[in-house]
Amino acid sequence: MSERTGARSADAVCVPLPVGHSQPEVALRRISILGATGSIGESTLDIVRRNRDAFTVVALTAQTNVDKLAKLAREFDAEIASIGDPAHYATLVEALAGTNTVAAAGETGLEDAASRPTDWTMAAVVGIAGLGPTMAAMSAANVIALANKECLVSAGSVFTGAMSASNTTLIPVDSEHSAGFQSIDTSGLASIETMTLTASGGPVREWPLDKSSKATRYDALAHPNWSMGPKVTIDSATLMNKGLEVIEAWHLFPLESRQIDVVVHPQSTIHCMVSYCDGSVIAHLGAPDMRTPIAYALAWPRRMHVPVERLDFAKLGRLDFEAPDLTRFPCLGLARAALERGEAACTVLNAANEIAVERFLAGGTTIDRIAATVEATIEQAENAGLIASLEGIVQVYDLDAQARRMARALL
Ligand code: NAD
Ligand code: MG
Repeated sequence: MSERTGARSADAVCVPLPVGHSQPEVALRRISILGATGSIGESTLDIVRRNRDAFTVVALTAQTNVDKLAKLAREFDAEIASIGDPAHYATLVEALAGTNTVAAAGETGLEDAASRPTDWTMAAVVGIAGLGPTMAAMSAANVIALANKECLVSAGSVFTGAMSASNTTLIPVDSEHSAGFQSIDTSGLASIETMTLTASGGPVREWPLDKSSKATRYDALAHPNWSMGPKVTIDSATLMNKGLEVIEAWHLFPLESRQIDVVVHPQSTIHCMVSYCDGSVIAHLGAPDMRTPIAYALAWPRRMHVPVERLDFAKLGRLDFEAPDLTRFPCLGLARAALERGEAACTVLNAANEIAVERFLAGGTTIDRIAATVEATIEQAENAGLIASLEGIVQVYDLDAQARRMARALL
């Protein structure tokens, strides 16, 4: 039996909580947004902007876009604005002169901002760079809305263990996981047979293989349905995104790996389907707009109004599905194999993918080298005896750094 099978409800962090459990009712909720200048950050602030009476902004963070960060901090009268790249600190201080917002910078600045007490914190930094701030937020936030999937993939039980030990509630924001969370019938978790995550298949799904394997960054960035940051858009084109999401679902929900399925669904209308032992399937549908899952995390366990496009079923006409082609999308198979192999393999998978995607986005490699680099890095790590159990956060960062060095050398 693989280590990823067997009953495991105790360590999953996102079993829907019993009815009655809710976010505290406060007139003005204190919220922070880690990764405020990105795609998820923008969508979150769009909702906040429309509901100014309901929220007060504590912290906003970004990595390099200092002008946008300062503008948002002014608009929302944030308590603290923190820029990851310390080279922008002086610019931030200057841009915030005359406001009530404290400026901070660097890794400690990000963690200081993340550890200010809140009712709700959005974790929307991209990549493993989000791990430190999200862990810092755990002791300070009542609720963490988790958009960043790389935290869970890289740090696995180190992350979920810290989450469970804190008094913080985690609400998934990734659209498929929010959809799964909303489709789980809490009356009998044991009655779930499968959870099916949908994948759009990305922009090059229908191209002949010899052409799609040479897609440029511009081709791969042209996502047909979703508007997202560059890293997750490339991950969607390779289906690594769906692989990371299978691992994410495994950590969030009390399911065995074999119960987590993927189907290609080009319209991105259904986000997740949960199948039960009586033949019922509960699905979550909605327009591909991240404001829906973000609003669900904000209002949970209630709902709030969001002006996203409404589905018009007659206009939609049809919904299509097909099994993912693992020859065309080897990253999905690599992620599944890493999940079976164990947490350290997932850490290496994520690190190698982050490096390969960064290189591809910089125009320094071809899209087919992403899967090849991830596969070769995992093999090297395995041969070097690095694929062992993860004991703590220091080991996660060490292994991540070693895998990055290997991936860079391979590229
Ligand atoms: P993005 O690239 O648009 O934004 C990333 C944010 O993180 C920016 O604010 C940026 O300044 C900050 N950031 C980048 N590098 C950083 C670093 N080293 N240290 C600190 N901050 C840093 O990304 P996004 O599309 O908003 O995605 C954010 C996360 O949410 C990703 O993990 C992604 O997989 C996940 N997600 C995104 C979407 C989507 O629709 N965009 C959907 C589901 C999940
Ligand atoms: Mg998703």
